[in-house]
Amino acid sequence: MGFFTDIWYVWVCVGLLIIIGIVSSIYAASKERQCPFCLEIIPKAAIVCKHCKRDVPKM
Ligand SMILES: [Zn+2]
Repeated sequence: MGFFTDIWYVWVCVGLLIIIGIVSSIYAASKERQCPFCLEIIPKAAIVCKHCKRDVPKM
């Protein structure tokens, strides 16, 4: 393994970590939404807001 091969390997690892971070944040965002009343973040499947206890329209 030469010097440039090692650098390439490091950059591939860094790139994979960045891609995993972006994908996981998009995945987490797709499972959450904002309560229309108190504007707190609640699960997308929620029918009652856990923060203000109000009924929220099911998506
Ligand atoms: Zn709420």
